Amino acid sequence: VLLAELMLQRTRADLVVPVYREGLARWPTAADLAGAEPRTVAETLRPLGLSHRVSRLLEAAAMCRDGVPRTRNRLLAVPGVGPYAATATLCFAYGRRLAVVDPSVIRVVTRLTGVSSDRSRPRTDPRIWKTAGDLIGTSVNPREWNFAMLDLGAIVCRPKPRCHECPLVRWCPTGRRVATSGGV
Ligand code: SF4
Repeated sequence: VLLAELMLQRTRADLVVPVYREGLARWPTAADLAGAEPRTVAETLRPLGLSHRVSRLLEAAAMCRDGVPRTRNRLLAVPGVGPYAATATLCFAYGRRLAVVDPSVIRVVTRLTGVSSDRSRPRTDPRIWKTAGDLIGTSVNPREWNFAMLDLGAIVCRPKPRCHECPLVRWCPTGRRVATSGGV
């Protein structure tokens, strides 16, 4: 999960998939990757234009040699890992009940709850993270919840939302407003 998140940063998912598979086949563990020849890693990453990130990736692999960290603070200490990658790893790899927050999830959360952020980069706002986390019910699988929120934000709750297709519309004040006025 962590390797995928590091590759996905500012890179299209459809380009990452074959490179990720090749990387995993060559270096199945973090220890394998940490001991890899930098030039070979650079060649593998070339289709993604990520050759410049090789040393950071190898450093990250070395820090995960004995296992990917299981706490947020230790994950954030790994080179290249920010709050999104740390949370995604904790949820998708370890099943922790944490919300993954990216720009599309922020759209859903703010429209659905009315909570807004006055920061220029709302993804750095703890209120947004807390609100997103509070939405995860105790009875749902957090991995499935996060995948659903990411998909909802990417496909339905787009900048121009498709509220008439949204399963949350009956609970969403923005969706009701769109239904009556035709705009966000
Ligand atoms: S009802 Fe509309 S605004 Fe609300 S979450 Fe769904 S798509 Fe987004």
